[in-house]
Amino acid sequence: MARPYDVAVVGLGATGSQALLALARRGRRVVGLDRFTPPHAQGSSHGRSRIIRQAYYESPAYVPLVRDAWDRWEALARDAGQPLLQRTGGLMLGPAGGTLVPGAEASARAHGLAHQRLGAADLRRRFPQFQVGDATEALHEPMAGILDPEACIAGALGLAARAGATILPETPLTSIGNEPGVLRLATPSGPLEAGRVILAAGAWMPRLVRGTVPLAVERQVMWWFRPRTEAPWRAGTAPVFLWEWEPGRYFYGIPDQGAGVKVARHHDGPLADADDVDRTIAPAERADIRALVAQHLAGLEPDPADAVTCLYTNTPDHDFVVGPVPDEPRVLLASACSGHGFKFASTLGEVLARLACDEPAGFDLAPFAPARFLPRR
Ligand SMILES: Cc1cc2nc3c(=O)[nH]c(=O)nc-3n(C[C@H](O)[C@H](O)[C@H](O)COP(=O)(O)OP(=O)(O)OC[C@H]3O[C@@H](n4cnc5c(N)ncnc54)[C@H](O)[C@@H]3O)c2cc1C
Repeated sequence: MARPYDVAVVGLGATGSQALLALARRGRRVVGLDRFTPPHAQGSSHGRSRIIRQAYYESPAYVPLVRDAWDRWEALARDAGQPLLQRTGGLMLGPAGGTLVPGAEASARAHGLAHQRLGAADLRRRFPQFQVGDATEALHEPMAGILDPEACIAGALGLAARAGATILPETPLTSIGNEPGVLRLATPSGPLEAGRVILAAGAWMPRLVRGTVPLAVERQVMWWFRPRTEAPWRAGTAPVFLWEWEPGRYFYGIPDQGAGVKVARHHDGPLADADDVDRTIAPAERADIRALVAQHLAGLEPDPADAVTCLYTNTPDHDFVVGPVPDEPRVLLASACSGHGFKFASTLGEVLARLACDEPAGFDLAPFAPARFLPRR
């Protein structure tokens, strides 16, 4: 067998492609394998767009990561020669006593992010695309926008290959054997050896980490609605948005970049298995999103023009899993999803590369430690 790789990256989607690039740029002997040919539409990183926002209602702990990630996406766009990120501003809407608006404001204040609080009258004047009730408030932040997920992955993989990474598409990892000097990765096309392994297999992680981290895969549907007239919903005129439309329930939208306005519920989907997902869309799902759009958004055609399924991989606390497997520190886990991970991938790839090279992570990873799910002794 050939000399072992320094690092093997398993899964070349949002996170894995970035880790591969960061390792290749360090001059490491690195291999990346994927069960498909990325970018592809089987996992969690397809559908033309992802929101990036900074006033993070989920927790202020994410803000340093996303600020760093924004700079890295811009650098990737320059290096790849592609416009991967479009700034549109972002609107978080909901009740004043809800989770989203106060949470986003707390993050913005804690980290000095530019933001503006808007009441219903301001919203109606500035953003008539949104049909708000009198009790709806919002936080607007200028530093939010749209990432192109497929182009981000393709760009990172292209640069990684140029920097010397070996890329093996259509090569699923089936198991890892740990031996004293090396980790042995089994694949249908033969074994590979590596000193470290980064597992970034998205919705297939539950299978690979069974017994270590409790992950649940959730089926989601993304929808595209054509605007009746283009101008109000054009990306840049309209912001990306997230709306707490009922306490603790959310839907989001991404303005039109050519295919229509993308709208989807955030969570509320059924449990799924990545290898056995029902990709057909039920009439009841269509009726549900039609009603949500008709109630909240103005100027869109009532029927969606397109719809695609996608997969969230959720932790119980909806925080990421990033760090070493507790009893095998040579294997690093990266499950950055729970429906909000894409925006961080450029930074998490760098962080994983640092960990794989025994460098300081540069960020507080304690909230993401895989060990937090182990029973306390
Ligand atoms: C509908 C939807 C909307 C979302 N919207 C947003 C958003 O607006 N903003 C945001 O920040 N986040 C968003 N997210 C979340 C974000 O897209 C995910 O967190 C992110 O894409 C996950 O990246 P990943 O690298 O973990 O998985 P993926 O990008 O899916 O990559 C995993 C890769 O692993 C490969 N793989 C699996 N098993 C194996 C194996 N055994 N061997 C080799 N390779 C394997 C797969 O083929 C795949 O290519 C959204 C997610 C969905 C589904």
